[in-house]
Amino acid sequence: MTSNVSQSYPYTSESETDRAAHIAALVDARDNLATTIATETTPLDANDRWWVWKCPTSGCQGLLHVAGYARDLHALLVVCDGTCAKTFLR
Ligand SMILES: [Zn+2]
Repeated sequence: MTSNVSQSYPYTSESETDRAAHIAALVDARDNLATTIATETTPLDANDRWWVWKCPTSGCQGLLHVAGYARDLHALLVVCDGTCAKTFLR
């Protein structure tokens, strides 16, 4: 299995409470993240569990948490909680 393939599968899952707490902390810590989420996503459905992925950035040990649905795309906007501080579409 290549690293690309393994990275496309969820690493773990988290409760809605944990997801919301992670995203709230990341929004607090990063200047433009609230704007990014507000402009690039629509709110999530109610869901008890959300997938979490490992960050694909080389050298980054972060995990990707779901921030919202990407506008006009069938994708989730996810935010890395690690050193790369990037957002990705999943
Ligand atoms: Zn990262």
